[in-house]
Amino acid sequence: MNGEHAAMRAKTRAKLPGWTPFEWQVIGEGAGILLTGGVSRTLKSGPRKGKPTWDPPHEQVFVSAAEIIAFERRYERKTGKCAMCDGTGQVWAGYKVGEGHRYRPCSRKGCEGGTLAVTA
Ligand SMILES: [Zn+2]
Repeated sequence: MNGEHAAMRAKTRAKLPGWTPFEWQVIGEGAGILLTGGVSRTLKSGPRKGKPTWDPPHEQVFVSAAEIIAFERRYERKTGKCAMCDGTGQVWAGYKVGEGHRYRPCSRKGCEGGTLAVTA
């Protein structure tokens, strides 16, 4: 399951126009992802100037694992790219203070540098 794909699904369902997620929460050991978001605006002053902020109201949208899998299947059929790594060949492996985000090569079977050699 890819959080970006969940966000793309959730955007089509959120009631707030211009809804953007800022929090992802995995529910029920992989049953789906609950996204919290709102309408973002750019801060004009202060120490976080230029960064986005989300004023209330916030809206939560739940995207089930089955929906994300269906979305990823369609993406792969359409683009021929691996949905697990978004066609980059690298997947996110965690975050460590001082080191930043870490990535590892995509372990999806048939994925060669992000392109699917064999499509299921
Ligand atoms: Zn891949």
